[in-house]
Amino acid sequence: MSEEAVEATGPQVRRLGDWAAADLADLAAEYDTPLYVTDLERVQANATRLRAAFPDADVHYAVKAHTGQAVLRAVRAAGLGAECASAGEVVRALKAGFEGREIQYTAVNPPATDLDTVVERWRDDAAGLTVVAGARDTLDRLRDRGFDGRIAIRVNPGVGAGHHAKVTTGGHAKFGVPYDRAADLLADARDDFDVVGIHAHAGSGISGEDLDAHRELVARMGDLARDVGDLEFVDVGGGFGVPYHEDEPPLDLGAVADATREALGDVDARLAVEPGRYVVADAAVLLTRVNTVKEAEGVAVAGVDAGMTTLLRPAMYGAYHAIRNLDADGRRERPVTVAGPVCETADLFCEERPLPDPRRDDLLAVGNAGAYGYEMANTYNSRPRPAEVVRDADGVRLAREREGLEALTALEGDE
Ligand SMILES: *Cc1c(COP(=O)(O)O)cnc(C)c1O
Repeated sequence: MSEEAVEATGPQVRRLGDWAAADLADLAAEYDTPLYVTDLERVQANATRLRAAFPDADVHYAVKAHTGQAVLRAVRAAGLGAECASAGEVVRALKAGFEGREIQYTAVNPPATDLDTVVERWRDDAAGLTVVAGARDTLDRLRDRGFDGRIAIRVNPGVGAGHHAKVTTGGHAKFGVPYDRAADLLADARDDFDVVGIHAHAGSGISGEDLDAHRELVARMGDLARDVGDLEFVDVGGGFGVPYHEDEPPLDLGAVADATREALGDVDARLAVEPGRYVVADAAVLLTRVNTVKEAEGVAVAGVDAGMTTLLRPAMYGAYHAIRNLDADGRRERPVTVAGPVCETADLFCEERPLPDPRRDDLLAVGNAGAYGYEMANTYNSRPRPAEVVRDADGVRLAREREGLEALTALEGDE
């Protein structure tokens, strides 16, 4: 990437150490913890860097990584479209100002209410929206509802890539139409719909080492596109990895873009990509405060007020997130286990990691919390969801209120 491009899009990665400790401490004092802090300028820099790397491709942001309205607006302002995985995400995208033609809805075993809602919005205020169908049944159900708009066919390319088996989707039978049946389904679909594209998503966490799998997927999609002809776009999915470990190098976007172009070959259709994680991961941190410190066989266990209900990735994927003690200048390091308040052994942010000796009331920052962070927050153990503040050129504001205890029983009425 040229130096001007770096200037416009910021450094390729923002590490946890790059966040100003004093600012984070002020925010924790003002808004309490646990607290997500999201930097919208970083979101826009990431989005702009993607567009620069794929200058002639359509870039849709995979909304499920972070669906907050402030983030969606920032992403739209940076020129990305919205890739939605549910009717709820379509509704959120429309609310944030995306127009129908900027929205792609990828239906995986869509519940009836999802299809009802999406078709209704398509008739109403989201004309131009594209539905990505991964099964013949989905096309039938759309036809039953009178949908005759833009369709793309999700193909199972038979190759997957990802940082964990649970996010490797490309080769799994759950996702998409088997490769060798895609051309037939596509031809049938042309009778009733405006077939505009083919789509595949290999999984999450494409790194430099995984480029071969990515190349293979893209090459297959290129072959299919040449085979069926007359398409507007070939969507090769998202999955661009981010360096969760502090010593991991950032993804070489230019290399991914080159490999993608080369593997796709000559096709008479636009390239489309749909990254989620890459756009938001390093744009947010989670702040949490130590409330309990315990000695256990040479290890310090630091109990904190965030847990697997606040940030699920460590418990669900064994994911690594950098942790920084913002109050521990100069304290010696020792093995520290950081544990949440939920009654589950999986409720740990790290185990026996070298960190400064913890003390009660220390403020910890958890890095790379922007993607699938707040989004996967839940209320297990009756823990209300945390607050989120966003920062942009105008300053800091509350983007999502902290959930109150009354919300926990609100759906149960006043029995
Ligand atoms: C989740 C998802 C993405 C985004 O994946 P990231 O790893 O966040 O980039 C893109 N496309 C589809 C269909 C997805 O389900």
